[in-house]
Amino acid sequence: NGCYKAGKKRSKTTGIVKHSTGANNPYLRRYIDDPGNLGENTNNNHWNRPGVSTCVHFMIGKDKAGKVAIYQLLPLDYRCWGCGSGPKGSYNASHVQYEICEDGLTDRKYFEEAFAAAAWLDAYICKKYGLKASSIVSHKEAHEKGYATNHGDCDHWLAKQGKSMDWTREQAEKAMDGPSAGNSVGKDTIPAKDKEEPKKADTAPTSKVEAAKSRDLKLAGTYTVATKTDPLALRAGAGTGKPKVASLAKGSKVQCYGYYTEADGVKWLLVTAGDKNGFVHGGHLKKI
Ligand SMILES: [Zn+2]
Repeated sequence: NGCYKAGKKRSKTTGIVKHSTGANNPYLRRYIDDPGNLGENTNNNHWNRPGVSTCVHFMIGKDKAGKVAIYQLLPLDYRCWGCGSGPKGSYNASHVQYEICEDGLTDRKYFEEAFAAAAWLDAYICKKYGLKASSIVSHKEAHEKGYATNHGDCDHWLAKQGKSMDWTREQAEKAMDGPSAGNSVGKDTIPAKDKEEPKKADTAPTSKVEAAKSRDLKLAGTYTVATKTDPLALRAGAGTGKPKVASLAKGSKVQCYGYYTEADGVKWLLVTAGDKNGFVHGGHLKKI
């Protein structure tokens, strides 16, 4: 990709530009060349080619398994080719930028998952550069301020789902604060009637899981259960005395969003394992 090869760095970082792709294809493999994780792009029209006139720092979309993922394309300090320029200049010179892969714009579940990932990413970038949520703009807003080409993303998608850029900034702020609700970043303002019915569980319902006391984004990521032989207990709180929510087989994968509680000098990570949430002893996890 020419942007990567140009290798220009930003001299400053003053905000984030949020894009959406404008094409009905939620799969990251449309844009990113990584068959192992994302599946094969059989059209060979991904962005990892010379002659492609665009590249951003991250993309959010579906991986090979259809799960929503955040994928980094450029070193964070690079000047990306994202929003073009307007009469006052270009936010490419000053903003970290990412694209959210659009689908048909009517799937509420994908919308929620993609924008929850975006809120996490906003919080990550804001913390890294000491930015406020108010510095997050859409491509459309960047154009209105005079620093981008005339595009309507991603406001058109938000409007279709009854949301706005202000809502995304609120979500980012919540993600930065580390809501006590745990790892459901971005989901707590969706009206109750739109929520899916909770699945029946044969163990303690996830609602009984305690809130995490701390957050460290460095702990966020995917982990494998690295016990010697035994399954690992997923518990409702931090400590071996807390009720067991589920048993995790050795080698199974869990997702941590950075939330944890320390108990007796041990970090118990709040993780998602399949459709269950709970705490696991950090010493038995290996980060992927
Ligand atoms: Zn755009």
